[in-house]
Amino acid sequence: MTNEVSIIGAGIAGFTLALSLHTQGIPCAVYEARAEPQNIGGAVMLSPNSLRLFDDMGIYEDLKRLGYSFDTLYFRDLAGDLKETYPFGSVEKYGYSGLRVYRYQLIHLLLKKVNAAEISIYFNHKFSHVVSETAETVTWQLIDGTEKTSSLLTGADGIHSRVRKFMYPTLSPKFTGLAGITAAVPTANLKLPTPDYKMPVTIMSPSHGAFVIAPQKPDGSEVLIGKQKRMPELSREGWEQLYTDKASTAAFLREDAELFGNIAVSVTSDIPHDGINIWPFYVIPELDSWYSGKRRVLLVGDAAHAIPPSSGQGISQAVEDVVMLSMLLRKGRGDERDLKWWQDFRQARLQQILLLNARVDQRRLPKIPGDTEGEDAKQGFDLDWLYGMDAVKEVEKYVAGS
Ligand SMILES: Cc1cc2nc3c(=O)[nH]c(=O)nc-3n(C[C@H](O)[C@H](O)[C@H](O)COP(=O)(O)OP(=O)(O)OC[C@H]3O[C@@H](n4cnc5c(N)ncnc54)[C@H](O)[C@@H]3O)c2cc1C
Repeated sequence: MTNEVSIIGAGIAGFTLALSLHTQGIPCAVYEARAEPQNIGGAVMLSPNSLRLFDDMGIYEDLKRLGYSFDTLYFRDLAGDLKETYPFGSVEKYGYSGLRVYRYQLIHLLLKKVNAAEISIYFNHKFSHVVSETAETVTWQLIDGTEKTSSLLTGADGIHSRVRKFMYPTLSPKFTGLAGITAAVPTANLKLPTPDYKMPVTIMSPSHGAFVIAPQKPDGSEVLIGKQKRMPELSREGWEQLYTDKASTAAFLREDAELFGNIAVSVTSDIPHDGINIWPFYVIPELDSWYSGKRRVLLVGDAAHAIPPSSGQGISQAVEDVVMLSMLLRKGRGDERDLKWWQDFRQARLQQILLLNARVDQRRLPKIPGDTEGEDAKQGFDLDWLYGMDAVKEVEKYVAGS
């Protein structure tokens, strides 16, 4: 079919794009390289700006039942004193609390909706390259040589996007020099300093960085524990090897635990190896354009703007991208101004998030020579701009003014 939108990647960006296009009455199909949706990492954090959009998609109530709701992250020093709080949600202010939910649960809820909407998904279909684009269509190939023609091709194929190669053949993601190492541990193992000790908590050491403990599962019966590590880049095989070397990643989590107090010692005393994850932080530089010359090839989610995780916005930003894009494809002027407005709006927001990430990292990373304390640590976080933004209303405003 040529009049449909082809979506490459059945991740969160790909599935939410499919659902949003369907809502707008735009036919689409999803092509995924793997045999089934990817199940990486453990639980992910979702904030009100994306939960609002998941609510519109009809999956919020189910998500809430599966996840752990919370409103605030607590930053403490080594003495246990509360230094700062970081808002992550509020029913009163934004309509939603923050939520930690397993990624596979989110993906499966989305998949159920995509199936219910009878949107075609082709697993084991790996995109290879774009053959050509005209003003109306784009022709592209799968790696088995099958050629397809669609009205639009959307790269929702993640940070190592092959679709992006059509516009940026030589661009590669850059390693930030940091990796997050996390594990899932039963909450029962924890020795809390006080019975009413509040979590998620980040315990900060100026010399050793931070130790994070964040409850998950609806009853909080499990916690994620995590530390960030400065390290050199490894090859793909090197990362894979580190991922499988659970003894060494568990040892890294245990290292200097006593410095972070009894709570860290207790939670690292018995780390189940099957819940250990490693997440090397890669980014891609700001792209000049998220769409090709004839506007038949578009990028969304991590393919367009992979950002470090410090503010927990990777997924939420991908969902904002696709909801806004789908509305514009249906309701916009139908020329380049729509895509330009969309990209400018999205990139301005991502810039703000990168600044926010830097502020969070200041608190979480060990100091290196040259780091200064700065006034920033005293300012606190006002995140109304982040959680209060209503993607649907912003597009409606743009359309009304156009
Ligand atoms: C360990 C870990 C923990 C994270 N935790 C959080 C968190 O707590 N909160 C948060 O907001 N974000 C988190 N993130 C970031 C978040 O996962 C990403 O921002 C988000 O998944 C981006 O979604 P995406 O759909 O753009 O890309 P992806 O999730 O990478 O999906 C891309 C899909 O495209 C498929 N694909 C790739 N190439 C091809 C091809 N050639 N042909 C067909 N299909 C292809 C892949 O198989 C995959 O299914 C985490 C990331 C990791 C790795």
